[in-house]
Amino acid sequence: MRGKIKPEDLKVVALAHCILNQSTRWWKDGKELRRGLIREVIDALASMRIGAVQMPCPEFSFCGNPRPSRTKEEYRSLPGFMMHCRRLAKAMAENLKGLTTLSKRPKIKIVAVVGIERSPTCGVELTPYKRVGREEFEYRRMKGLFMEALEEELESLGISVPMLGLDLRKPEALVNNIKNVAHGC
Ligand code: SF4
Repeated sequence: MRGKIKPEDLKVVALAHCILNQSTRWWKDGKELRRGLIREVIDALASMRIGAVQMPCPEFSFCGNPRPSRTKEEYRSLPGFMMHCRRLAKAMAENLKGLTTLSKRPKIKIVAVVGIERSPTCGVELTPYKRVGREEFEYRRMKGLFMEALEEELESLGISVPMLGLDLRKPEALVNNIKNVAHGC
């Protein structure tokens, strides 16, 4: 008799809101609007049979659009924004924890949290830290405000998950990174 097949874990990523809905991205008059979703990421997830949870957009839900471009330091000093990020991060971390604890045979595994590089809020490895000219920023290798808060909240719930950044100029790099982390878990 054939033995019981152990069901494979179900894999899920948490995506920055604008990967699935670019209409919340920052824009101002004269700048081309971004529309739709980032197809390369969604197609790749679909082909790998990895599910996606959409995270909130901290900037849009606090400032709406159009909103001015801001650095991490400028958002940090915007009254109420840090608290807003912390509230959203706490709810998101609890949501992800719920997915993992409420699922049994097969279990849901959070493969990665995906942010957006060059965002002061959702950056993972590259964040516009401060302004050095009217439209020039100093970038630093650090997370944005929401990603920092989310990492802290996940840690406090005992969840350790890789954080990956989508560089909008090369989505294929993210797809490879997701493949690598999904393969290893
Ligand atoms: S990078 Fe983050 S804050 Fe910016 S539009 Fe996307 S989800 Fe919103």
